[in-house]
Amino acid sequence: MNANSLQNYLEALHRDCAGIDTGAVASYIPELGKADPDWFGIALITVEGHVYQVGDSRQPFTIQSISKAITYGLALEDRGTEAVLSKVDVEPSGEAFNSISLEPETGRPKNPMINAGAIATVALIEGNTPVAKLSHMLDCYEKYLGHPVVIDEDVYRSEKSTGHRNRAIAYLLRNSNIIEKDTDDVLDVYFKQCSLLVTCEDLAMIGATLANNGFNPLTGVRALQDRYVPAVLSVMSSCGMYDYSGAWIYEVGMPAKSGVGGGIVAVLPGQFGLAVFSPRLDERGNSVRGIAVCKKLSADFGLHMFHIGRATASSVIHARYDAAQFPSKRIYEPEQIRILSEWGQKVIVLEIQGDFAFNSAEIVIHESMRAIENADFLIMDFTRVGEIDERALTLITDFIHSLFELSKQVLITGFCQKHEFAKRIKQRIEVTANSPLLDCEDIDHALQWCEQNLLANRVSK
Ligand code: GLN
Repeated sequence: MNANSLQNYLEALHRDCAGIDTGAVASYIPELGKADPDWFGIALITVEGHVYQVGDSRQPFTIQSISKAITYGLALEDRGTEAVLSKVDVEPSGEAFNSISLEPETGRPKNPMINAGAIATVALIEGNTPVAKLSHMLDCYEKYLGHPVVIDEDVYRSEKSTGHRNRAIAYLLRNSNIIEKDTDDVLDVYFKQCSLLVTCEDLAMIGATLANNGFNPLTGVRALQDRYVPAVLSVMSSCGMYDYSGAWIYEVGMPAKSGVGGGIVAVLPGQFGLAVFSPRLDERGNSVRGIAVCKKLSADFGLHMFHIGRATASSVIHARYDAAQFPSKRIYEPEQIRILSEWGQKVIVLEIQGDFAFNSAEIVIHESMRAIENADFLIMDFTRVGEIDERALTLITDFIHSLFELSKQVLITGFCQKHEFAKRIKQRIEVTANSPLLDCEDIDHALQWCEQNLLANRVSK
């Protein structure tokens, strides 16, 4: 599908769903009741940073509960998994967002996506004063969005003056020492985080950043350490749509978070962030059109995250050839050319493509084993590889090491651009084996190095 056809598709989807007029704007926070029920925007941002948007995608509204996912990530970064889990569990409550779902013994909230868990999470983030906590939080948003965020002061005041149930929850949390400090300070930051103004485009960018392992796809800035991305997406999967979470993940199959302002953000890991804004809510507090849009998009393109795109040899190996078929560009003497055309099959080049995860690593290893059986040199080119999964990296470095033990020479090319991974793989292989050449240069240089070796061996023999 090209760019235009996706834009056209989203416009048609917007037209189709604009007819849905069930649900009602939230009014329990009086200021939210002022929203226009017909506002309706859709935005989709891919991990490559391609932005698609339709309708009221630039209309600001308050983020509300969607903020809970961001704060949870921040708390994990600030305190680590263990400390956070000791204060907030990760079990779906099956109850409404404002339910008092606390563990009987410990008073620990069921999960960070309901108000009780979110208030406890706010208490966990760094900052000794509400001002310090808020500014820490705003910095984090800026990383996700690529621009600063502001608070809707009217909504904040409205939340604060009517949020008695949240106050009751905070006192219960204080009573069981889940919150260890002043509840008013924590609540103040909670009300403010719910009142942050975002657009549908902003939410899609948050989604795309989570889909992109925590890196904003346009700015390249890291908003969340990649090791915490799975944790945030997990609680979004199991608890992000409140007491609709089970049916949501069953049908739509994307981690998501909704807010009573009318926003929903859904994430397809490794692919995109999708956001819908429409303030008409169902009885659970989820946007009615938002659910409809996500369901339709997921069904139309088979986007359920458990709909696994299979990696096959042809999708992982971009090209496979030897140095007799495609020698380097270097100019040789006729006799050298003769030797190289006779012995060039001893040098195999595998050009790998796509994200390098478990399944693709397995395929590369499998193909390499076959290829290297009758050869002496293996050039693995990573120029076309995107993300490299940590475990896949271990598999491949172990494999390279085993080839060294068989006295096969392995050369790695195309790593220069992928600075971080380049460093990681180089460090590991340099530690695990005495590679003759772990070269950042291109395939041609690697081929030349192998050719030189072939020639030297043939001449000396
Ligand atoms: N500020 C809202 C509240 O605490 C957030 C709830 C929501 O978006 N579901 O009630």
